[in-house]
Amino acid sequence: MIYADNAATTALAPEAFEAMKPYLLAEYGNASQPYSFSRSARAALAKARQDIAECINAEPSEIYFTSGGTESDNWAIKCLASDRRALLTSMTEHKAVLRSCAAMERRGYPAAYLPVDRSGIVLPETLERFISDTALLVSVMTANNETGTIQPVAELCRIAHAHGALFHTDAVQALGHIPVDVKSLGVDMLSGSAHKFGGPKGAGFLYVRNGTPLTPYADGGAQEHGLRAGTENVAGAVGMAAALKKSCAAMPETAEKLRRMERDLLAELHGADFIRNGAPDGIPGNMSLSFRGAEGEMLLHRLDLMGICVSTGSACDSARTQISHVLEAMGVPEEYAAGTIRVSFGAGNSPEDGKLVGQAIRKIIGSPLKTGLKRENG
Ligand code: PLP
Repeated sequence: MIYADNAATTALAPEAFEAMKPYLLAEYGNASQPYSFSRSARAALAKARQDIAECINAEPSEIYFTSGGTESDNWAIKCLASDRRALLTSMTEHKAVLRSCAAMERRGYPAAYLPVDRSGIVLPETLERFISDTALLVSVMTANNETGTIQPVAELCRIAHAHGALFHTDAVQALGHIPVDVKSLGVDMLSGSAHKFGGPKGAGFLYVRNGTPLTPYADGGAQEHGLRAGTENVAGAVGMAAALKKSCAAMPETAEKLRRMERDLLAELHGADFIRNGAPDGIPGNMSLSFRGAEGEMLLHRLDLMGICVSTGSACDSARTQISHVLEAMGVPEEYAAGTIRVSFGAGNSPEDGKLVGQAIRKIIGSPLKTGLKRENG
């Protein structure tokens, strides 16, 4: 099998698994209990918080553990205490952000969905055009899950702050893949999810800059500075920290390997009628490819039969066949958009996987009758 859907989830890094094991077995104490048996769990949680903070240049007190990216996004968008109300986000956000904004609209908060350019970027002048001094929050993702496009977060954040608004970024697809420094970006809140960088599923965090007026996401116990109640997932936090540290340390070599794999794949497709979506120099290994006259769903299943896992559009959306909101917002022509697959390589792939996946796609698009191609491929 060739697993090429790392933007959907990644394998647990062995280092993360080893780091987690003690807190699933012998050291199972509740980290919030005062007795000595819980000391090790409590210390591990504090160390995980510190390690994650170091990876993104934050303070440990600014890291709040959550159950993943979805929860972090919901929290950042739904729980700000302010007299201001207007929300601004982009049309290409993950559903966790878009539906949180829609929920806020139902509560009477006006929301604007910023258009993107042809490569999926929110241009700073677009934000300037839409924002006013009543804005509460601007939320624009660091990198897109379907295309890997990286947003000019620091610049967008500066504009938001100039208008007195807070800035949140969903960095779920960026963390562990490109450098993320909350101080140089200037963001107030940032969402992360462990399973996108070799950590366990169901663990994530929200970075909240000290002083940000965030209210509790869950009421109950005093965990997470009283803002996110619930017995701490110590093993999850420890595994997430181990995976993030490992990904950040290996980032330059991994990125180089993934860029080479991208080139190898594209070389196999030379002359085929397709578009690579997204801005150049996106998240390494994330490739959104649209084949004219093809059906993404059919490509996915044909590749599956050849032992290759990819997704169509966004993995979270793979049950639906309609053109994704991301491709639509980017204006990908319909005859290409319907034939879109996302290939996302990761640290665990073998270097030759780029070439092999490219050859497999080439084989499929070269046999129109068997692949769902609606017309002869040029
Ligand atoms: N945000 C982005 C950009 C994502 O790609 C995902 C996962 O697909 C999420 C949020 C949701 O993260 P989680 O699966 O941890 O809830």
